[in-house]
Amino acid sequence: MGGEVRIELEAGHFSAVHFIAEHERCEHLHGHNWRVRVGVEGELDQRGMVVDFLELRARMGEILRKYDHRVLLPTLNPAVRVEEEGAGVRVRAGNRTFLFPAEDVVRLPVVNVTVEELARLIGEELAGRLTGPNLRRLVIRVSEAPGQEALFERALR
Ligand SMILES: [Zn+2]
Repeated sequence: MGGEVRIELEAGHFSAVHFIAEHERCEHLHGHNWRVRVGVEGELDQRGMVVDFLELRARMGEILRKYDHRVLLPTLNPAVRVEEEGAGVRVRAGNRTFLFPAEDVVRLPVVNVTVEELARLIGEELAGRLTGPNLRRLVIRVSEAPGQEALFERALR
């Protein structure tokens, strides 16, 4: 076995709005600039690369673009009801009701839109988009505030 190398990329950020249902402070609608770093481990290919930074940045851009300037909603939380209403989406969360334009909303298959779940979703999506027999592992690090972040790690292949 040859050695493995991990490359790391500051992949960018997205600005979005969320809330955490039934959380004392975070149930109020608020936003973050979520910053995303990605690490990919693998053996070096014939070019001397684990993965081309340009390609990795492009894949991450495709993923993060979908979240940018959107309202992120959970679809798996029994305390959050999301319904179509004309050209809008009505959201009931506890005793709060919101009405958003449908195009501003991104529904995510999570119980709550937390930094942990975002790291996992981004990692799983990137895993589906990265190909290469030399790739072994990826790490996604998402921060929602300085010093407050989640790290998701999974094997590739
Ligand atoms: Zn938050």
